[in-house]
Amino acid sequence: MDTEIEETAVPRFRGAVSEAIGRTPLIELRRLGAGLPGRIAIKLESRNPSGSVKDRVAAALIDDAEQRGLLTPGSTIVAPTSSNTGIAMAHIAAARGYKLRLTIPSDWANERIALLLYLGTDVVVTPGGDMIGARERAKALVQATASSGQAAVLIDQFVSPVNPEIHRRTTAMEIWEDSLGQVSAFVAGVGTGGTITGVGLGLRSRKRDVTLVAVEPKGSPVLSGGVAGKHAIQGIGAGFVPPLLRRDLIDDVITVSDDEAFAHAHRLALEEGILAGVSSGASIAAALALAAQKRMAGKLIVTIVCDSGERYVTTPRAEARPTRGGRR
Ligand code: PMP
Repeated sequence: MDTEIEETAVPRFRGAVSEAIGRTPLIELRRLGAGLPGRIAIKLESRNPSGSVKDRVAAALIDDAEQRGLLTPGSTIVAPTSSNTGIAMAHIAAARGYKLRLTIPSDWANERIALLLYLGTDVVVTPGGDMIGARERAKALVQATASSGQAAVLIDQFVSPVNPEIHRRTTAMEIWEDSLGQVSAFVAGVGTGGTITGVGLGLRSRKRDVTLVAVEPKGSPVLSGGVAGKHAIQGIGAGFVPPLLRRDLIDDVITVSDDEAFAHAHRLALEEGILAGVSSGASIAAALALAAQKRMAGKLIVTIVCDSGERYVTTPRAEARPTRGGRR
Protein backbone atom coordinates (compact mmCIF):
# COMPACT_ATOMS: atom_id res chain seq x y z
CA MET A 1 0.00 0.00 0.00
CA ASP A 2 1.27 3.41 -0.93
CA THR A 3 0.69 5.92 1.87
CA GLU A 4 1.80 9.51 1.71
CA ILE A 5 4.03 10.55 4.60
CA GLU A 6 4.52 14.25 5.16
CA GLU A 7 8.14 15.35 4.90
CA THR A 8 8.00 17.12 8.23
CA ALA A 9 6.56 14.10 10.06
CA VAL A 10 8.66 12.57 12.85
CA PRO A 11 8.45 8.92 13.83
CA ARG A 12 6.29 8.24 16.85
CA PHE A 13 8.91 6.30 18.78
CA ARG A 14 9.07 6.41 22.55
CA GLY A 15 12.66 6.71 23.74
CA ALA A 16 12.16 4.05 26.43
CA VAL A 17 9.38 1.94 27.92
CA SER A 18 9.00 4.43 30.79
CA GLU A 19 7.85 7.01 28.26
CA ALA A 20 4.82 4.85 27.51
CA ILE A 21 3.46 5.19 31.06
CA GLY A 22 0.13 6.91 31.72
CA ARG A 23 -2.67 8.31 29.55
CA THR A 24 -4.69 5.20 30.38
CA PRO A 25 -8.34 5.05 29.28
CA LEU A 26 -11.32 5.97 31.44
CA ILE A 27 -14.17 3.54 30.82
CA GLU A 28 -17.77 3.99 31.93
CA LEU A 29 -19.31 0.87 33.50
CA ARG A 30 -22.64 0.98 31.73
CA ARG A 31 -23.68 -2.61 32.48
CA LEU A 32 -22.33 -3.10 36.00
CA GLY A 33 -23.68 0.24 37.15
CA ALA A 34 -26.98 0.06 35.27
CA GLY A 35 -29.99 1.29 37.22
CA LEU A 36 -27.99 2.93 40.01
CA PRO A 37 -28.39 6.64 40.78
CA GLY A 38 -24.65 7.35 40.35
CA ARG A 39 -22.49 6.63 37.29
CA ILE A 40 -19.19 4.77 37.57
CA ALA A 41 -16.08 5.01 35.40
CA ILE A 42 -12.86 3.09 35.87
CA LYS A 43 -9.35 4.15 34.93
CA LEU A 44 -7.63 1.22 33.32
CA GLU A 45 -4.19 1.38 34.93
CA SER A 46 -3.53 -2.21 33.88
CA ARG A 47 -2.76 -0.68 30.47
CA ASN A 48 0.58 0.68 31.70
CA PRO A 49 3.70 -1.05 30.29
CA SER A 50 4.37 -3.33 33.27
CA GLY A 51 0.64 -3.88 33.81
CA SER A 52 -0.22 -1.79 36.85
CA VAL A 53 -0.78 1.65 38.35
CA LYS A 54 2.64 1.31 39.96
CA ASP A 55 4.50 2.07 36.73
CA ARG A 56 3.86 5.72 37.43
CA VAL A 57 5.27 5.52 40.95
CA ALA A 58 8.25 3.28 40.14
CA ALA A 59 9.37 5.52 37.27
CA ALA A 60 8.93 8.66 39.35
CA LEU A 61 10.87 7.19 42.30
CA ILE A 62 13.76 6.06 40.10
CA ASP A 63 13.80 9.37 38.20
CA ASP A 64 13.93 11.18 41.55
CA ALA A 65 16.83 9.05 42.84
CA GLU A 66 18.70 9.73 39.58
CA GLN A 67 18.07 13.46 39.79
CA ARG A 68 19.37 13.50 43.34
CA GLY A 69 22.55 11.76 42.14
CA LEU A 70 21.88 8.65 44.23
CA LEU A 71 21.95 6.22 41.32
CA THR A 72 24.81 5.57 38.92
CA PRO A 73 24.99 2.79 36.32
CA GLY A 74 25.36 -0.54 38.12
CA SER A 75 23.93 0.73 41.43
CA THR A 76 21.65 -1.54 43.41
CA ILE A 77 18.11 -0.45 44.24
CA VAL A 78 16.57 -2.08 47.32
CA ALA A 79 12.81 -1.82 47.84
CA PRO A 80 10.06 -3.38 49.98
CA THR A 81 6.95 -4.17 47.95
CA SER A 82 3.88 -6.38 47.88
CA SER A 83 4.83 -6.76 44.25
CA ASN A 84 3.29 -4.45 41.62
CA THR A 85 5.79 -1.72 42.48
CA GLY A 86 8.53 -4.33 42.36
CA ILE A 87 7.46 -5.54 38.93
CA ALA A 88 7.30 -1.96 37.68
CA MET A 89 10.73 -1.18 39.15
CA ALA A 90 12.15 -4.36 37.61
CA HIS A 91 11.21 -3.17 34.11
CA ILE A 92 12.77 0.24 34.61
CA ALA A 93 15.86 -1.11 36.39
CA ALA A 94 16.41 -3.53 33.48
CA ALA A 95 16.07 -0.77 30.92
CA ARG A 96 18.46 1.54 32.79
CA GLY A 97 21.07 -0.96 33.94
CA TYR A 98 20.43 -1.05 37.69
CA LYS A 99 20.44 -4.10 39.93
CA LEU A 100 17.25 -4.61 41.94
CA ARG A 101 16.75 -6.40 45.27
CA LEU A 102 13.18 -6.67 46.53
CA THR A 103 11.78 -7.76 49.87
CA ILE A 104 8.29 -9.31 49.57
CA PRO A 105 6.03 -10.68 52.36
CA SER A 106 5.66 -14.46 51.92
CA ASP A 107 1.84 -14.34 51.81
CA TRP A 108 2.06 -12.43 48.53
CA ALA A 109 4.86 -14.45 47.01
CA ASN A 110 3.03 -16.21 44.17
CA GLU A 111 3.62 -16.43 40.43
CA ARG A 112 4.94 -12.90 40.44
CA ILE A 113 8.21 -14.18 41.86
CA ALA A 114 8.83 -16.06 38.62
CA LEU A 115 8.21 -12.87 36.69
CA LEU A 116 10.60 -10.91 38.89
CA LEU A 117 13.30 -13.55 38.55
CA TYR A 118 12.81 -13.50 34.77
CA LEU A 119 13.43 -9.76 34.87
CA GLY A 120 16.72 -10.33 36.69
CA THR A 121 15.55 -9.25 40.15
CA ASP A 122 16.98 -10.61 43.39
CA VAL A 123 13.95 -11.52 45.55
CA VAL A 124 14.06 -11.83 49.35
CA VAL A 125 10.89 -13.28 50.90
CA THR A 126 10.03 -12.08 54.41
CA PRO A 127 7.66 -13.92 56.77
CA GLY A 128 3.96 -13.04 57.04
CA GLY A 129 1.58 -10.86 55.12
CA ASP A 130 2.16 -7.32 56.33
CA MET A 131 4.69 -4.88 54.96
CA ILE A 132 6.38 -4.15 58.29
CA GLY A 133 8.87 -7.03 58.10
CA ALA A 134 9.57 -6.38 54.42
CA ARG A 135 10.43 -2.75 55.13
CA GLU A 136 12.75 -3.64 58.02
CA ARG A 137 14.51 -6.26 55.92
CA ALA A 138 14.99 -3.82 53.03
CA LYS A 139 16.70 -1.36 55.36
CA ALA A 140 19.04 -4.09 56.61
CA LEU A 141 19.84 -5.16 53.03
CA VAL A 142 20.88 -1.65 52.03
CA GLN A 143 23.34 -1.56 54.90
CA ALA A 144 24.68 -5.01 54.09
CA THR A 145 25.09 -4.16 50.38
CA ALA A 146 26.72 -0.82 51.15
CA SER A 147 29.13 -2.35 53.65
CA SER A 148 30.23 -4.83 50.99
CA GLY A 149 31.40 -1.80 49.02
CA GLN A 150 28.56 -1.61 46.45
CA ALA A 151 26.39 1.44 45.90
CA ALA A 152 22.90 0.70 47.25
CA VAL A 153 19.86 2.92 47.53
CA LEU A 154 16.70 2.23 49.52
CA ILE A 155 13.58 3.28 47.66
CA ASP A 156 10.59 3.15 49.97
CA GLN A 157 7.31 4.06 48.30
CA PHE A 158 5.64 4.09 51.72
CA VAL A 159 7.48 7.25 52.78
CA SER A 160 8.50 9.07 49.60
CA PRO A 161 6.43 12.18 48.74
CA VAL A 162 7.26 11.41 45.10
CA ASN A 163 4.59 8.67 45.27
CA PRO A 164 1.48 10.85 45.84
CA GLU A 165 3.02 13.67 43.82
CA ILE A 166 3.10 11.68 40.58
CA HIS A 167 -0.57 10.81 41.07
CA ARG A 168 -1.40 14.46 41.73
CA ARG A 169 0.40 15.57 38.57
CA THR A 170 -0.62 12.77 36.20
CA THR A 171 -3.38 10.38 37.34
CA ALA A 172 -5.58 13.16 38.76
CA MET A 173 -5.14 15.41 35.76
CA GLU A 174 -5.94 12.62 33.32
CA ILE A 175 -9.14 11.83 35.24
CA TRP A 176 -10.02 15.51 35.31
CA GLU A 177 -9.43 16.01 31.58
CA ASP A 178 -11.00 12.76 30.36
CA SER A 179 -14.14 13.30 32.44
CA LEU A 180 -14.29 16.95 31.33
CA GLY A 181 -14.32 17.88 34.99
CA GLN A 182 -17.46 15.83 35.65
CA VAL A 183 -15.85 13.63 38.32
CA SER A 184 -17.69 14.05 41.63
CA ALA A 185 -16.18 11.24 43.67
CA PHE A 186 -12.99 9.21 43.66
CA VAL A 187 -12.76 5.76 45.24
CA ALA A 188 -9.44 3.96 45.81
CA GLY A 189 -7.96 1.13 47.80
CA VAL A 190 -5.23 2.14 50.22
CA GLY A 191 -1.86 0.43 50.13
CA THR A 192 0.73 3.17 50.52
CA GLY A 193 -2.06 5.74 50.28
CA GLY A 194 -0.23 7.35 47.34
CA THR A 195 -3.10 7.02 44.88
CA ILE A 196 -5.90 8.40 47.03
CA THR A 197 -3.75 11.17 48.49
CA GLY A 198 -2.28 12.33 45.18
CA VAL A 199 -5.42 11.98 43.09
CA GLY A 200 -7.42 13.55 45.92
CA LEU A 201 -5.15 16.57 46.10
CA GLY A 202 -5.16 16.95 42.32
CA LEU A 203 -8.92 16.72 41.94
CA ARG A 204 -9.64 18.96 44.94
CA SER A 205 -7.38 21.64 43.42
CA ARG A 206 -9.89 21.75 40.56
CA LYS A 207 -13.14 20.99 42.38
CA ARG A 208 -13.23 21.52 46.12
CA ASP A 209 -16.18 19.29 46.86
CA VAL A 210 -14.96 16.08 45.21
CA THR A 211 -15.82 13.19 47.56
CA LEU A 212 -12.91 10.91 48.45
CA VAL A 213 -13.59 7.36 49.58
CA ALA A 214 -10.85 5.03 50.84
CA VAL A 215 -11.26 1.26 50.56
CA GLU A 216 -9.69 -1.24 52.94
CA PRO A 217 -10.04 -4.97 53.64
CA LYS A 218 -12.72 -5.95 56.15
CA GLY A 219 -10.15 -8.39 57.56
CA SER A 220 -7.69 -5.58 58.35
CA PRO A 221 -9.73 -2.43 59.02
CA VAL A 222 -7.03 -0.17 60.47
CA LEU A 223 -8.35 3.04 58.87
CA SER A 224 -11.77 2.29 60.33
CA GLY A 225 -10.24 2.02 63.80
CA GLY A 226 -10.03 -1.80 63.90
CA VAL A 227 -7.04 -4.10 64.21
CA ALA A 228 -4.72 -5.37 61.50
CA GLY A 229 -5.38 -8.91 60.35
CA LYS A 230 -4.91 -11.32 57.49
CA HIS A 231 -6.80 -10.79 54.26
CA ALA A 232 -6.62 -11.81 50.62
CA ILE A 233 -6.75 -8.41 48.89
CA GLN A 234 -3.22 -8.04 47.60
CA GLY A 235 -1.92 -4.49 47.28
CA ILE A 236 -4.13 -2.85 49.91
CA GLY A 237 -4.42 -3.17 53.69
CA ALA A 238 -0.72 -3.01 54.59
CA GLY A 239 -1.49 -3.61 58.27
CA PHE A 240 -0.75 -0.06 59.45
CA VAL A 241 -1.90 3.47 58.67
CA PRO A 242 0.49 4.40 55.85
CA PRO A 243 2.44 7.58 56.62
CA LEU A 244 1.71 9.14 53.21
CA LEU A 245 -2.04 8.86 53.60
CA ARG A 246 -3.66 12.28 54.12
CA ARG A 247 -6.52 11.09 56.30
CA ASP A 248 -7.81 14.65 56.58
CA LEU A 249 -8.76 14.56 52.89
CA ILE A 250 -10.89 11.42 53.18
CA ASP A 251 -14.66 11.66 53.54
CA ASP A 252 -15.43 8.02 54.06
CA VAL A 253 -13.81 4.59 54.47
CA ILE A 254 -15.55 1.52 53.04
CA THR A 255 -14.45 -1.96 54.13
CA VAL A 256 -14.78 -4.85 51.70
CA SER A 257 -14.50 -8.57 52.50
CA ASP A 258 -12.22 -10.92 50.60
CA ASP A 259 -15.23 -12.68 49.10
CA GLU A 260 -16.79 -9.42 47.92
CA ALA A 261 -13.50 -8.32 46.35
CA PHE A 262 -13.06 -11.58 44.43
CA ALA A 263 -16.72 -11.62 43.39
CA HIS A 264 -16.62 -8.06 42.07
CA ALA A 265 -13.40 -8.63 40.14
CA HIS A 266 -15.20 -11.54 38.53
CA ARG A 267 -18.33 -9.48 37.83
CA LEU A 268 -16.18 -6.87 36.13
CA ALA A 269 -14.83 -9.60 33.85
CA LEU A 270 -18.20 -11.23 33.18
CA GLU A 271 -20.29 -8.08 32.74
CA GLU A 272 -17.85 -5.56 31.29
CA GLY A 273 -15.12 -7.77 29.82
CA ILE A 274 -12.50 -6.13 32.01
CA LEU A 275 -9.98 -8.44 33.66
CA ALA A 276 -8.99 -6.86 36.96
CA GLY A 277 -7.08 -7.81 40.08
CA VAL A 278 -8.61 -8.46 43.49
CA SER A 279 -7.97 -4.97 44.91
CA SER A 280 -9.78 -3.52 41.90
CA GLY A 281 -12.68 -5.83 42.75
CA ALA A 282 -12.72 -4.25 46.22
CA SER A 283 -12.75 -0.76 44.71
CA ILE A 284 -15.59 -1.66 42.36
CA ALA A 285 -17.62 -3.11 45.26
CA ALA A 286 -17.14 0.17 47.15
CA ALA A 287 -17.91 2.30 44.08
CA LEU A 288 -21.16 0.36 43.53
CA ALA A 289 -22.14 0.92 47.18
CA LEU A 290 -21.52 4.64 46.74
CA ALA A 291 -23.35 4.79 43.39
CA ALA A 292 -26.38 3.18 45.06
CA GLN A 293 -26.77 6.21 47.36
CA LYS A 294 -29.49 8.70 46.35
CA ARG A 295 -27.18 11.68 46.91
CA MET A 296 -25.01 10.40 44.03
CA ALA A 297 -27.86 10.70 41.49
CA GLY A 298 -26.39 11.68 38.11
CA LYS A 299 -22.91 12.08 39.60
CA LEU A 300 -19.76 10.49 38.23
CA ILE A 301 -17.71 8.23 40.49
CA VAL A 302 -14.23 7.30 39.30
CA THR A 303 -12.18 4.37 40.54
CA ILE A 304 -9.07 2.52 39.44
CA VAL A 305 -8.33 -0.85 37.92
CA CYS A 306 -4.89 -1.14 39.51
CA ASP A 307 -3.75 -4.23 37.64
CA SER A 308 -5.02 -7.07 35.48
CA GLY A 309 -6.67 -10.26 36.68
CA GLU A 310 -4.08 -12.23 34.76
CA ARG A 311 -1.67 -11.51 37.59
CA TYR A 312 -3.87 -13.52 39.98
CA VAL A 313 -4.40 -16.80 38.20
CA THR A 314 -2.72 -18.79 40.96
CA THR A 315 -4.06 -16.66 43.83
CA PRO A 316 -6.21 -18.88 46.06
CA ARG A 317 -9.79 -17.76 46.45
CA ALA A 318 -10.66 -16.07 49.70
CA GLU A 319 -12.21 -19.28 51.11
CA ALA A 320 -8.86 -21.01 50.85
CA ARG A 321 -7.04 -18.41 52.89
CA PRO A 322 -7.17 -18.69 56.66
CA THR A 323 -7.64 -15.43 58.51
CA ARG A 324 -6.83 -14.42 62.03
CA GLY A 325 -8.97 -16.24 64.58
CA GLY A 326 -10.52 -18.37 61.85
CA ARG A 327 -12.70 -15.43 60.84
CA ARG A 328 -13.39 -14.56 57.23
N1 PMP B 1 -4.06 -2.29 44.35
C1 PMP B 1 -2.94 -2.90 43.98
C2 PMP B 1 -3.03 -4.19 43.21
C3 PMP B 1 -1.71 -2.37 44.32
O1 PMP B 1 -0.59 -3.00 43.95
C4 PMP B 1 -1.68 -1.17 45.06
C5 PMP B 1 -0.37 -0.61 45.46
N2 PMP B 1 0.31 -1.30 46.49
C6 PMP B 1 -2.86 -0.56 45.47
C7 PMP B 1 -4.04 -1.15 45.07
C8 PMP B 1 -2.91 0.65 46.36
O2 PMP B 1 -2.33 1.81 45.87
P1 PMP B 1 -1.55 2.82 46.80
O3 PMP B 1 -0.26 2.18 47.21
O4 PMP B 1 -1.33 4.00 45.94
O5 PMP B 1 -2.38 3.15 48.00
